[in-house]
Amino acid sequence: MARLTIFTYPAEVLRTKSRMVSAVDNEIGRLIDDMAETMYAAPGVGLAANQVGVLKRVVVIDVSYVDGEPNLIALVNPEIVECVGEAVNEEGCLSFPSIKEDIKRAACVAVRALDRDGRPVEIRADGLLATALQHEIDHLDGVSLIDKVSFLKRRMIHRQLSKDKSAG
Ligand code: ZN
Repeated sequence: MARLTIFTYPAEVLRTKSRMVSAVDNEIGRLIDDMAETMYAAPGVGLAANQVGVLKRVVVIDVSYVDGEPNLIALVNPEIVECVGEAVNEEGCLSFPSIKEDIKRAACVAVRALDRDGRPVEIRADGLLATALQHEIDHLDGVSLIDKVSFLKRRMIHRQLSKDKSAG
């Protein structure tokens, strides 16, 4: 396994739509392993392939490792098939270091995907997992945290991250 570089805003890969994975092969298995290692090391609760510069529809999520046993969810070609309700939660993102924003999303979602063995799976989730699924699937469509906030907040985030960069 290898730790990958996480691209941060305003990297172009974060604005680029990822392609469908045609075959869940060893290469995808390796990508999942590397993404999981990178996510745990960061540490974070989710990571999309765009964030490590790979434009394939692959995400890894683990919302339980913070206070429990690791429980890795790796999804290939994930698709939201149902949304219910509304919830506002504070979100962070490994590509927006030090930024935390309240984001409105569906409270519950159903997601269809392939698992790391290429088998179809369906996940129904609420709470933190529902938020993480929507956040990571957004990444695959080139949508990130900054696209979900008001114009004013967007400018503040842009200014803060540009400043961080020039400060080294
Ligand atoms: Zn993110």
